[in-house]
Amino acid sequence: MNPVLMDKNDLIESMIGREAQRRFTTPEKLREYGEFAWYKGKKVAEDCSGKYKRISPVQLAQTLGLTVEDIDGPGFYYSEYHTAGKKIVLFKNTIEDKFIRIEYSNLLTCEYQDIRQLFLAHEIFHHLECSESEIGITYKQRQITVFSFGPFKWNTGLRCLSEIAAHSFALSLAGKGIVY
Ligand SMILES: [Zn+2]
Repeated sequence: MNPVLMDKNDLIESMIGREAQRRFTTPEKLREYGEFAWYKGKKVAEDCSGKYKRISPVQLAQTLGLTVEDIDGPGFYYSEYHTAGKKIVLFKNTIEDKFIRIEYSNLLTCEYQDIRQLFLAHEIFHHLECSESEIGITYKQRQITVFSFGPFKWNTGLRCLSEIAAHSFALSLAGKGIVY
């Protein structure tokens, strides 16, 4: 199943399994951090729904001053967020061919206009991480030590945490009528 559609436990397992830095910590710690990211994404979605009165991702992108483009891409990614220019790009061909066509049995609608909201919401979360200091960049908020020598420590963030939080945000904000 695509991570976009996974529930909390499956998503955390799947994402921490792909985490490049996972050998520097324990599976228990990774799971704990994964839970932190999941609930953060959900909370930010609830805060947005409250603040903007159950706004759709399309309206939210407009309110935040983001430019959204739907184009055909090279087929590797579904969507991208560009910090410079506050722009979100949705790759229509990839979403149609590598998501809708494969996951149709797990979806309540197969309309591109509906499905794109999930990917749009995911990228909006990355925008909020970068632009709202009280939200902050999720992967930097839980660090692990990858090297230590006496009093010196080299800490690094876990990239998968931002992805877990963005998926959770998207499902919470845009999943109704599409996934559940
Ligand atoms: Zn992402």
